[in-house]
Amino acid sequence: MITCKSYVGGQWRSGTGTPAILVDASTEEPIAEVDATGVDMAAALAHGREVGGPALRALSFAERGALLKALSGAIYEHREELIDLSRTNAGCTRGDAKFDIDGATGTLAAYASFGRKLGDRGFLSDGDGLQLGRTARFWGQHIRVPRHGVGVHINAFNFPAWGQMEKVACALLAGVPVIEKPGTSTALVAWRVAEIVVESGILPEGAFQFICGSAGDLLDHMRAQDTLAFTGSSGTGAKLRGHANLIAHNVPVNLECDSLNSAVLGADVDASSETFDLFLQNVVQDMTQKTGQKCTAVRRIFVPADRVEEVSAELVAALGRIVVGLPSERESRMGPLASAAQFADVRAGIDQLLQSSTALTGGSAPLRDKGFFLAPTLLLAKDADADVFHSDEVFGPVASVLPYSGEASEAIRLVNRGGGGLVSSLYSNDASWAEEVVQGIAPWHGRVWVANDRMASQSLPPGMVLPNMIHGGPGRAGGGEELGGVRGLAFYQQRVAVQGFKGTIHSAFGESAPE
Ligand code: NAP
Repeated sequence: MITCKSYVGGQWRSGTGTPAILVDASTEEPIAEVDATGVDMAAALAHGREVGGPALRALSFAERGALLKALSGAIYEHREELIDLSRTNAGCTRGDAKFDIDGATGTLAAYASFGRKLGDRGFLSDGDGLQLGRTARFWGQHIRVPRHGVGVHINAFNFPAWGQMEKVACALLAGVPVIEKPGTSTALVAWRVAEIVVESGILPEGAFQFICGSAGDLLDHMRAQDTLAFTGSSGTGAKLRGHANLIAHNVPVNLECDSLNSAVLGADVDASSETFDLFLQNVVQDMTQKTGQKCTAVRRIFVPADRVEEVSAELVAALGRIVVGLPSERESRMGPLASAAQFADVRAGIDQLLQSSTALTGGSAPLRDKGFFLAPTLLLAKDADADVFHSDEVFGPVASVLPYSGEASEAIRLVNRGGGGLVSSLYSNDASWAEEVVQGIAPWHGRVWVANDRMASQSLPPGMVLPNMIHGGPGRAGGGEELGGVRGLAFYQQRVAVQGFKGTIHSAFGESAPE
């Protein structure tokens, strides 16, 4: 049994409580234990602020970028080992494990290159300077400087490598030390990544700390220069946003939460088009990649009512070709859910949706005696307006076909019933329909993805989060924003308006930041 420890104050520490047991998602055999009881959270925050912060702030963007590049390389060297751990602890097929691990190394590498381009400074000028007085002598310039606190990162279970490292990349490049707290059920992969980071010796002391287990009283000790970035369910997010100490100290909080992502098939898309093939391919990939445990996975599939039978048949046929099986077997395209809790939640969620739908394929019955295996499940709504489709995120290989008229106005109304989402994908060769829907749903989304025949062969799927585009969304999705290239640094920086003599201000703080 592996004991996953916490790394705080420059040492690995075991917990003093009763550990949580992590199991192999395919066999339910115990594989690791996790416990952070007794870890001194106040001391960890102080260590980051007093040791890690000054060391990072002494470096330029280019130097911090070089650290990220080296980290990316160090993790990549352990790629095969991490893929094996993802298979057991998180039930990931090889493809799913690579998606998480290569997402981590790729995002670190992308932020390394942003750092190289930002060059020798340690802060950013924000926009052009402004003449404020009668002449240019009295001048103003906005700048963004690193906060003198710790970036606390509480992550979801589904991306133990990528979810952790995308936040690390932004914070470290901004010049802010981090404390990482992964989701417990898949903490084995996050812990091994943390071990690789620490063993590599790449980062200055105090820049990276890791809490393996419950967050304990960590949030009680955060102060105004610290930041909290959370990824997880909207229920937990709401609890953290309302945390009395975070409110008392106005600690900046960024939430990345649930999303009832949608795919909308335009009425103009005929079955022989590349756009239609891409729609089928993306929906099936989203439903089954990481066994549907992906924040950007499609949950609501809007199909013109007169095409529902034909489109559903194609989706069912494609889902039927997905081999569900042990992640260690080469032919498996979809593995089990990540944990017993996930398995129970998803089964209950399917049963709930089935009260307002019929199953076109799959269902809530387990596929094996052991392990957390379910079939890809496609449902057909009896009424596309029923609340359950627009309010309950079932975080597994589950999506519902919702018939709609094909009109842009109805697509907009139904998509926006999700109450705020990470991504919506539109499929249409009708540019005016697409433009109207984009404009109608944009205020409710972090990202809108638009397919037609001309880009079909070149596109990356809508479920893929890219380091140079923002990730997040309003409302149910948490109201947060991450990544987006250099924009991702802003959360870790204080924006300051510096006003005074132009000769002083412009030479020290002028020049716009490259975005
Ligand atoms: P979760 O149950 O909300 O947990 C998320 C994290 O919060 C875990 O690390 C958890 O720790 C921690 N946590 C729970 N209660 C806490 C508390 N009172 N104080 C401090 N930390 C606390 O979510 P999950 O099941 O891991 O993740 C699935 C959800 O995440 C889905 O709803 C999915 O949509 C969402 N998600 C969103 C995004 C996005 O980018 N928007 C990405 C991935 C996932 P323990 O594990 O130790 O309980």
